[in-house]
Amino acid sequence: MTEGEKIEILVYPEKRYSSDFVLGNLCGNKNFIDFVILYFNVLRETQFWERGHMEELQSLRLKKFLDHIVNNSRFWNDQFKKQGIDVNSFHSISQLYKLPVLTREMVMELGEEIYVERKDQAAFSFRYSSGTTGLPLKTRTYEQDFMAATFPYYFRNPKFEDDHVIDFLSRRSVVMLGKPGDMRILSNDFVHYIFPSLTLSDLDDGAVRSEIYEKIEEAGPVMLFGFSSLILRFVHGVQEDKKKLPIYAIKLSSDYISSDDRLFIEEITGAIIINVLSSTGAGMIGFECSRDLDKFHVNSERLILEIIDGDGLKTELDEEGEMIVTAFDRTGTPMIRRALGDSGKMVSGRCGCGVKLPLFEFRGRQGDEIILPSGKKLRSVMLYYFINEAKLGARTRQYQIHQENPDRIKISIVPREHFTVSNEVELRLALSKFFEGEKMIIDIEYVKNISPGAGGKYHMFVPMKK
Ligand SMILES: [Zn+2]
Repeated sequence: MTEGEKIEILVYPEKRYSSDFVLGNLCGNKNFIDFVILYFNVLRETQFWERGHMEELQSLRLKKFLDHIVNNSRFWNDQFKKQGIDVNSFHSISQLYKLPVLTREMVMELGEEIYVERKDQAAFSFRYSSGTTGLPLKTRTYEQDFMAATFPYYFRNPKFEDDHVIDFLSRRSVVMLGKPGDMRILSNDFVHYIFPSLTLSDLDDGAVRSEIYEKIEEAGPVMLFGFSSLILRFVHGVQEDKKKLPIYAIKLSSDYISSDDRLFIEEITGAIIINVLSSTGAGMIGFECSRDLDKFHVNSERLILEIIDGDGLKTELDEEGEMIVTAFDRTGTPMIRRALGDSGKMVSGRCGCGVKLPLFEFRGRQGDEIILPSGKKLRSVMLYYFINEAKLGARTRQYQIHQENPDRIKISIVPREHFTVSNEVELRLALSKFFEGEKMIIDIEYVKNISPGAGGKYHMFVPMKK
């Protein structure tokens, strides 16, 4: 493949889209497999590109993206005019930094204006995402863009070969523990079985584990997807049962996992681990470094990650700040200098693994733990998935969960529409499941607004004061 071809695939992936790239029609779809394999192989090379070379690619993608939204949306056209920016003269990513940072609150304020509707009949869908801020946001996503921004990026672990990718795309080999975000794009095509409402304590039950073993053996070799905490508990059970399972890869989702736990999962199962950093709005931000498991390499081919300080200025390397993302492939709901509400830092120096993509250390989600009456700690990020089971995101404008005592939590809700008694019951049930049956008093209050915490940031979860 020539350099020109590689750039073309990344800048104009749609030239290689085929009309049969439709959710529900991807499994064993030869055109789709060829597309993903090609893109996957481009990524295997671009990860070694020098920074200047990568920035050229980013400028091309950014320019194309900005042209698209300015031509298809009066709102974005006006926005750029207001900032005195002429998209036609956009030629370098350094110009990007002149644009204002958009916080989640600002985006909420703008409402549906920020969506960009394409003139073609491309399929799209809406999703509510909340992340760590507690402000549910509706995003419009074009399915084919989403596929291109997802499938090839799953396989950014150097242990993956073409054959793995082809096998994965050719059959239903996914078993899911819980309902991670990947479910939406995978379930119609690649999922063999989902254990949708699995809790940590379920996994202590030998009968539940046997059922999971059965499904894995039925579809083996499988790729296991799930929340990190569920997978970790499951693998402890596998070790206890001295079970050998046909699992060739495991994708960890959502909650933070220590590198020791992650290594334990790899050692017991022998699987290739997919550990990515992602957010619902921005998609896959980075992938775990094979040398330094606590850090992530940024998917620079599809986005720019900036870290800024409290004054909105770019931080020095190794200095912690807020994560700001500009994604080139979110054409339905543009993400341009969007503040994610999470923090982290860029790491200096060349990475020992040889990959030249920026190395990033995520700090946002650690330490936010819910402490159960028994003293057991649960990660608050998991909580988000349980309350979304109760559709809290779709029913609220904002919410916050505050742990006041070891046996008491308060949920403040700014409702989108009237909250019925059955909505409340649903929420309480989802939470009791999350608390693994331990007795917690749940107070629900309805409010007009929820103020941000220190530093003006909104938080979905406020932990108990130490
Ligand atoms: Zn590395």
